[in-house]
Amino acid sequence: MSQYYVDKEKQPEGDVHMVHISGCVKLPPEYQREALGDFSSCEQTLTEAKQTYPKVNGCYDCSYSCHRSL
Ligand SMILES: [Zn+2]
Repeated sequence: MSQYYVDKEKQPEGDVHMVHISGCVKLPPEYQREALGDFSSCEQTLTEAKQTYPKVNGCYDCSYSCHRSL
């Protein structure tokens, strides 16, 4: 299980919110991220994050298997 976060700020490209694992070098600062909880896969995490943010994407660095190139 890993602790996942979603970036509250949209990426300039594609209007998506990036999902990160705790400890990622690209993890946003505390005020700019929302904790999603512990998940065993990024696929599960994206499903959860989509309830709040319709457009989400996995971080290239920490969640590559869920990353979709735009
Ligand atoms: Zn990341």
